[in-house]
Amino acid sequence: MSGTTYNARQMIDKLISFDTTSRLSNMELIDFVRDYLAGWGIESLLVPNEDNSKANLYATIGDARQGGIVLSGHTDVVPVDGQNWSTDPFAVAEKDGKLFGRGTCDMKGFIAIALSRVPQLVAANGKTPIHFAFSYDEETGCTGVRSLISHMKQHLPLPRAVIVGEPTDMTVVNAHKGGYTFVTEVTGLEGHSSLAHKGVNAVMIAGEILSEINRIAADFRTRLDTSRRFDPPYSTVHAGLIQGGTALNIIPLNCKIIWELRALPGQGPDEILERIRKFADTLLPAMHAVDPGTGIITECTNAIPPLLPEDGSPVETLVLALAQQNDTYAVSYQTEAGLYQEIEIPTVICGPGSITQAHKPDEYVSLAQIAACETFMDRLVEHIAAN
Ligand SMILES: [Zn+2]
Repeated sequence: MSGTTYNARQMIDKLISFDTTSRLSNMELIDFVRDYLAGWGIESLLVPNEDNSKANLYATIGDARQGGIVLSGHTDVVPVDGQNWSTDPFAVAEKDGKLFGRGTCDMKGFIAIALSRVPQLVAANGKTPIHFAFSYDEETGCTGVRSLISHMKQHLPLPRAVIVGEPTDMTVVNAHKGGYTFVTEVTGLEGHSSLAHKGVNAVMIAGEILSEINRIAADFRTRLDTSRRFDPPYSTVHAGLIQGGTALNIIPLNCKIIWELRALPGQGPDEILERIRKFADTLLPAMHAVDPGTGIITECTNAIPPLLPEDGSPVETLVLALAQQNDTYAVSYQTEAGLYQEIEIPTVICGPGSITQAHKPDEYVSLAQIAACETFMDRLVEHIAAN
């Protein structure tokens, strides 16, 4: 069986050319990958979203009945809206030893290099299968991959390792913080602002809640991570969005705060939810005295589990060897890695490019990082061939 060949650079060019901003469909990219793999005799499993506008792709090179190693990446990219790009974000531009384009770093570079090695992986014909797991909607809270992971858990022999190719400068990351999204909605009572005592001002109540969020953030800053591996070495809390009110002379009926906790491993959302709800309870009597229909509701709307270090696990040892690194690191951003670990597949993160170049205008990955990742993949092919 022989299909089309692409070197790493050609495959990067191809993948960047699909505008897979999270709000758009990723199906053109998925169809391209599926056809490319089919050319090499590899079948793809698609796990689509509800309206079939997006899909995860899972494919196996080798004997699917055996465990195997997953190369995992997300196909979506963050928007370029409002960003000042020097070049077309969806056409790779090479300059000063760097490849510029949306997703070059986060994280189509890794996916492209993995795909460019398909002919070698097929030829290696090893006992250990290599799986590709390419997801959608990672950038909107790691929501897309969840259906793929539950499919894997229910229907497939579980792989023995996952390598998530998020940008780590090709170092090996074995821990990250958990991410939790909260929405607090305050319902007040509208009225003419001259009659403040007859209404309940949702914006002003939200201000009280924000103050409590600040106090929680301050408390967490004093609870230092004993491993000292994280930057910053504590859990962080912040409000990123607030919406409320109608006009200056109307007592606001609604106010919504969207806020987050980026938690050290071991800290879940429960403590903070309980604290904010208890605080809200102290505000309610005064609100209810004016109108019993007023209220404050806080929910956790998205949870991305942390990646917990599994020091000395076989995948960690293997990936350290493939990346020719001696040490592991911890990061403060979230990835799909914690979700794979939740179904008990040992998982580490290792990919080309720096997270400091992700999500920005003129996002790039250096040619040196691409070369390092190609070497990593070539060692993986050798490992597969020998095992
Ligand atoms: Zn990413």
